[in-house]
Amino acid sequence: MALIKDILQTMEYGPSPESNEHVVAWLGQHEAGFGHFIDGKFTDPAASESFEVTSPANGKVLARVARGTAEDVDRAVAAATRAFKSWSKLSGHERARHLYALARHIQKRDRFLAVLETMDNGKPIRESRDIDIPLVARHFYHHAGWAELIESEFPGYQPVGVCGQVIPWNFPLLMLAWKIAPALAAGNTVVLKPAEQTPLTALAFAEICREAGLPDGVVNIVTGEGDTGAALVGHPGVAKVAFTGSTEVGRIIRRATAGSGKKLSLELGGKSPFIVFDDADLDSAVEGLVDAIWFNQGEVCCAGSRLLVQEGIAEKFYAKLRARMGTLRVGDPLDKSTDIGAVVSTEQLERIGALVAKGRQEGAEVFQPSIAMPAKGCFFPPTLMTGVEPASTVAMVEIFGPVLVAMTFRTPDEAVALANNTRFGLAASIWSENINRSLDIAARVKAGVVWINATNLFDAAAGFGGYRESGFGREGGREGLYEYLVPALGKPAKGAEATKAPLNPTPSAATALAPVSDDAIDRTAKLYIGGKQARPDSGYSYAVVNPAGKTVGHAGLGNRKDIRNAVEAAAKAGSWGAATAHNRAQILYYIAENLSARAAEFEARLRAMTGASAKDAAEEVAASIRRTFFYAGFADKHDGAVHSTKSRHVTLAMNEPFGIMGIVCPDKAPLLGFVSLVMPALAAGNRVIAVPSARHPLAATDFYQLLDTSDVPAGVVSIVTGETASLAKTLAEHDEVAALWDFGSTGDAATIEAASAGNLKPVWSGAPRDWTSGDGQGREFLRRATQVKNIWVPYGE
Ligand code: NDP
Repeated sequence: MALIKDILQTMEYGPSPESNEHVVAWLGQHEAGFGHFIDGKFTDPAASESFEVTSPANGKVLARVARGTAEDVDRAVAAATRAFKSWSKLSGHERARHLYALARHIQKRDRFLAVLETMDNGKPIRESRDIDIPLVARHFYHHAGWAELIESEFPGYQPVGVCGQVIPWNFPLLMLAWKIAPALAAGNTVVLKPAEQTPLTALAFAEICREAGLPDGVVNIVTGEGDTGAALVGHPGVAKVAFTGSTEVGRIIRRATAGSGKKLSLELGGKSPFIVFDDADLDSAVEGLVDAIWFNQGEVCCAGSRLLVQEGIAEKFYAKLRARMGTLRVGDPLDKSTDIGAVVSTEQLERIGALVAKGRQEGAEVFQPSIAMPAKGCFFPPTLMTGVEPASTVAMVEIFGPVLVAMTFRTPDEAVALANNTRFGLAASIWSENINRSLDIAARVKAGVVWINATNLFDAAAGFGGYRESGFGREGGREGLYEYLVPALGKPAKGAEATKAPLNPTPSAATALAPVSDDAIDRTAKLYIGGKQARPDSGYSYAVVNPAGKTVGHAGLGNRKDIRNAVEAAAKAGSWGAATAHNRAQILYYIAENLSARAAEFEARLRAMTGASAKDAAEEVAASIRRTFFYAGFADKHDGAVHSTKSRHVTLAMNEPFGIMGIVCPDKAPLLGFVSLVMPALAAGNRVIAVPSARHPLAATDFYQLLDTSDVPAGVVSIVTGETASLAKTLAEHDEVAALWDFGSTGDAATIEAASAGNLKPVWSGAPRDWTSGDGQGREFLRRATQVKNIWVPYGE
C-alpha cells in the first residue's frame, strides 16, 4: 500500500467510486418504462411509443421513457388548467408550505438525485452532489419564501396561468427547479418537458411531488423530443412559455409564439468572455478557468469559453494554464476524483470534435494535455486554442464542450470591444486586483451576469439571464418572479383604443395613409431624426383628418430608410445612457416645463385633431405634464438591489437601459400615450425611436419643438410618422434596436413579434389600457425599459 508521504509527493488519487445501487434498484423497478406524469399519476408506459435513455459514460441503457404526442401534451395542459383554478386561489402561505415540503423531500433524497443525474447526464458526481442538487433544494426553499411573500411584495400582480416549460440536458434537475419553483410560488401550474437525453431526474421529481403531497395537476411532466416541446409551446392552453436551450430553438419558439399573447422568457446560448488583466492573481485566474470552462464538461450556457488575456502576461498565463490542464482527470463520472465527466451524447461529442477541427483549419494552435482518457464513452479532453482570430468560427460559435479559445488584448478598451464582439450577452468573468477597473469593465460589458474574480456562481436570490441573443427574462431573484406574474390591469374604458377619426380619409385599409405628394401641400410636419427635422425618404406625406373628415394637417410618410437613419442617429447618442440619472431627470423636468408653457397650443392641437372637448384636451395635456414629472422624479429612483446570495458576495442587481428602443404609440390619447411610453424609456437611459399614432400624429410631431428647447441631445429621441404596422415591423427587424414596445399596431403582433426573432429583442405588445388611470404609469414601465445585470463582487480574503 502506498505511504501517505509518497502520495503527497505525487498527489495521485486512487479511484473513489460513488455507489449507485439505490439508483440501479430504482431503475430496475421501472424496467417496464416510464410514462408521463399527468394529473398526479404516471400514465401507462405500454400505451405510448417510447425511446431509450442511455448513460453517456458507458452507453448502457438506463431506462425507456414515453415519447410525448400532441394528445399527451393536451391532457397535461388540461390537468394543469383544472389544477390552476384551486392552486392559484391558495393563500401564499399554503403554497409556501408545499414548496417547503418539496425542498425538504429533495434534500432527503439528495444523494439519490445526484447519482441519478450523473448517470443520466455524465457530469462528475462531485458537481452534481455539491452544486446541482444543493442549488435545486435552495431554489425551492428560496421560492417557498417568495410564495409566502407574494401578496405583500407584488401587490397588483396575479399568476399568468398554465406554464409550458422546455429545458435542456446540461443541468436537468437544476433547470427544472429554476422553472418550476418560481412558477408555483407565483400561483401558476406547469407542464414541463425535459430534454430527451436527460429526463430521469424530472421523473424522479414527479415521484417527489406525489410523495410531498403536491395537489394533482400542479406539476405535469411530459417526456419526448423536439416535437413534444413544439406541441407544448404551441398549445393554446399555455399562457406562458419558458425555455432554456440553444439560440436556434429559442428563435423557433419566438416565431411559434408570435401573436399568441403568451408571455415568453428565453435563456439561450452564450460565448462568455473570461477577461484576465495583467494585475490579476494569475493562479486564482487559472483555477477560475477550470471552473469556467471545465465545469460540467463546458456544457454550460454561461461557460467562460472565450479567454481574453492582456498581452504582456499572455504567454506566462498560458503556460500556467497548460500545466494545470495536465492535472485534470477525465473519466468515470461516478468517481469522486473525476474533474471532467462524459459529454452528454455522441452527437454532442461529434459536434465538439468538428468545431475543434474547424478551429485548427482556421489557424488556431490546439493544445490538449497528455492525460489518460477513457477508451470508451463520450469523453473529450480539455482543450485550449490559442492564436484565435476574433472573427473565426470557434471565437463566435457556442462550442458547448470543454474547449477554451484564447485571444489577447492590450488596453481595457480593447478588452471591452473584444468582450462585446459577439451576438450573445449572457455572462462575463473579470479578473483584476483593481476594483475600480473591474467595476468599470463590468458596467461596460454587455452581459446579464458578471462575476468579478470568480465565475459560474449561481444562487436562487440572484437573477440569471442574458442580453442580446442570449435571450430575455431572468430566472431567480425578485426579477425572476416577474416572469411568472402579470399586472392585474383595470378594464380599459370602453373603446380605449377605438377612435372616431378616420384614416385619410376613409378608414379602409386600402386607402389608409394614401400618400400625397410633398409638393402638393403647404405645411407638413416633418420627421424628427438626429435632433433635426427631416423630410421623409419617400418624399410623401399623408393627410391627417379629424373625426369629421376634415384635413387638419399633414404628416410625413416615413419608411424603413427613415427608421434606419433614426437608429444611426440614436447609435451616436450613446452618452445618454451614461449620463447621470440626475441629469436625465433635469432634462425631463425641462420638457415638462416647456410643455406647460405651451399647454394651450397642445390643447388646441388635440381638439382639432381628435375632436376632444376643451376639458378633455386640457386634461390630457395636464396629465402629460404630470406624467413627465413622474418619470423625471423616478429617473434616479429606479434603483437596483443588493441580493442576499448565499456566498460571500455583494451581488449587485443593476437596472441597465437596453440602449436603443423602438416605441409604437397608441391612437387613444395621442399625446398622453406618447408621453407615457417615451418618458419612462428616457428616464431609464434609453434612446428612443418613437412612431406616433398614425391617425393622430400631430401632437407628437409638435413635441419635437419641446425636445429642441429642453436640452435633449440630438438622436436621443427620433420621431418617425407613417404606417404604424410597417414601421413597427422595421423596428422589430433592426438588429440595433434592442427592445420594442408596440402599443400601436394592435392586431399585428404576430408579424411584429415574429420579425423580432432576428436579434431576439424583447417585444412588449401592450394591451389597450386606460392611459389616464394608474395603469398608464408606474414601475412596470421602468422595469420593461431596463434589463437587470447581476454583478457578483467578492468580499473578504
Ligand atoms: P435544443 O435547444 O435543441 O434543446 C433544448 C430543449 O428544447 C430540449 O428539451 C429539446 O428537445 C427542445 N426542443 C427542440 N426543438 C424544439 C422546438 N422546435 N420547440 C420546442 N422545444 C424544442 O438544444 P440541443 O439539445 O439540440 O443542443 C444543441 C446545441 O444547443 C448544443 O450543442 C449547444 O450548443 C446548445 N445548447 C445550449 C444550451 C444553453 O443553455 N445555452 C442548452 C442546451 C444546448 P429534445 O429533448 O428533443 O432535445
